Amino acid sequence: MWDFSTEPEFQAKLDWMDAFIRDEVEPLDLVYGGKAYEPLGDELRGIVEPLKARVREQGLWACHLGPELGGQGYGQLKLALMNELIGRSPWASVIFGCQAPDTGNAEIIAMYGTEEQKARYLKPLLDGECFSGFSMTEPHAGSDPRLFRTRAVRDGDGWVISGEKYFTSNASNAAFLIVMAVTDPDAHPYQRMSMFLVPADTPGVEILRNVSTMGHRGDGGHAHIRYNDVAVGPDALLGEVGGAFAISQARLGGGRIHHAMRTVAAVKKAFDMMCERALSRETHDGTLAGKQLVQAAIADSYLQIQQFRLLILHTAWLIDRSSTKEARTQIAACKVAAARVFHDVVYRAMHIHGALGVSGDTPLARLWQAAPLMGIMDGPTEVHQASIARRVLRGYEPSPGPWPTEYLPDKIAAAREKYGV
Ligand SMILES: Cc1cc2nc3c(=O)[nH]c(=O)nc-3n(C[C@H](O)[C@H](O)[C@H](O)COP(=O)(O)OP(=O)(O)OC[C@H]3O[C@@H](n4cnc5c(N)ncnc54)[C@H](O)[C@@H]3O)c2cc1C
Repeated sequence: MWDFSTEPEFQAKLDWMDAFIRDEVEPLDLVYGGKAYEPLGDELRGIVEPLKARVREQGLWACHLGPELGGQGYGQLKLALMNELIGRSPWASVIFGCQAPDTGNAEIIAMYGTEEQKARYLKPLLDGECFSGFSMTEPHAGSDPRLFRTRAVRDGDGWVISGEKYFTSNASNAAFLIVMAVTDPDAHPYQRMSMFLVPADTPGVEILRNVSTMGHRGDGGHAHIRYNDVAVGPDALLGEVGGAFAISQARLGGGRIHHAMRTVAAVKKAFDMMCERALSRETHDGTLAGKQLVQAAIADSYLQIQQFRLLILHTAWLIDRSSTKEARTQIAACKVAAARVFHDVVYRAMHIHGALGVSGDTPLARLWQAAPLMGIMDGPTEVHQASIARRVLRGYEPSPGPWPTEYLPDKIAAAREKYGV
C-alpha cells in the first residue's frame, strides 16, 4: 500500500549526498564543530561557500520549500530521505541551506509575506546570506500561547513592540527576528496576536543574554530578548492582524517533521557507533557483542529506529497526499517518538562506550546532553500526547453499556442465536 522507493534519478542524488556529506561535510565537525550557526569568518567562508555552490549545482539547495513557494518541490517523502543524510552533521543543514529555525521562518515568509518582504528577508535567507530568529516563547509562558504578553501597539501607520522573549534560538547571529506580539488583548485567544518582521538592529531590540543549555547550540545560543518600545513600520506586519496563531501552527508543522527526519540520521549514527564498539571491545572472555544484555540493547535500538523511520516515512507520504494540517496527528506522533528514540538509543550507545562514551572524544556525550531538549522544544511531549489523544478519540464513541460495545450481552446473545447455541 505504501511505497517509499524513489526513482533512479533521485536515488543518484541521494547517493551523491551520502558521499558528499561523508567526505566533505562531516570532517568539518571534527575541526569546526559548534561553529555551524555562526556568521562565517574569512577562513570558514573559503571552505563552506564552495561546498554550498556544489550543493546548488546539484539542485539540492534549500529543498524544504514547495514549488508554490518557489522551492524545488521534491515533496516530503524525498525530503525525508534527504534529511536522513543531512541529520548526520550540524554543518550539513547549513551547507544544504535547510537549518532551523531559518527553514520554518523561510516557509512562513514565503506563505504569508508580501513581495517586498520576500525580497528583503526571504531572498537573503534562501541565498544563505543571513540567519534569522523566531521570537515566540516568553519567560513566563511557552507551551500555552494564550498567555503571551509581548504587545504591539499601533503608532500611526506602524507599530511599537514591547515585552520580553525567552529562548529565541540563534538570535545573536540573526539579521532579523520574527516576533509574535499581542495586538488585540480583547480578541478571541487565537486571534489576539500578530507576527512581525523586525531587523535585529532596530533600536530597542536588546539581547539581554544567551541562555546556556545542555549541549545544544551553545554557540548561537537561545537569547533572552527585551523589546524596548521597538518602532516598526506597517511593512513589518507578516500576514494579517490577528493571524499569528495560524502562522505559528503552519510554521511548526513543517519544522517538527523535518526535525524528526534529521533525528533518524542522528540516532543511526549513534547506533552505528554502538554496533562497532560492541564488535571491537573485549571484556570478560569475549567481545561486548557476545553478551546478551548488550545484544538486547542493540536489538531494542534497531527495532526502535526501524519503527521510528517507518513512522516518519509514512507521515511524509501522507503529507504528500494531503497536507501538514491533515497529517497533524502523525506529525505530533513523530515529534513524541523522535524525543524518545533519541533519548533511548543515544543513552545505550553512550553506555556501551563506557568512559569513552561520556568523554569529549566522541559526539555521544554532546548528543546525550541534547536529549532532554528534544522533548521540550517545538512543544513539550505532553502537549503533543494530548493533541494526539484528542484527535484519535474523535474517531470513537462511548460504549452504550458498562461492557465494550463488541462484548455487550445482547451482542453475545445474538451471536449465540446465529450459531444456535
Ligand atoms: C533547544 C530549544 C530551542 C528553542 N528555540 C525556540 C525558539 O527559537 N523560539 C521560541 O520562541 N522558543 C524556543 N524554544 C522554547 C520552546 O518553544 C518552549 O520551551 C516550549 O514551547 C515549552 O514552553 P516552556 O519551556 O515555557 O514550558 P511550559 O509551557 O512551562 O511547560 C513546562 C512543562 O510542563 C508540562 N506541560 C506543559 N503543558 C502541559 C499540558 N498541556 N499537559 C501536561 N503537561 C504539560 C511539560 O512537561 C512541559 O515540559 C526552544 C526551546 C528549546 C529547549
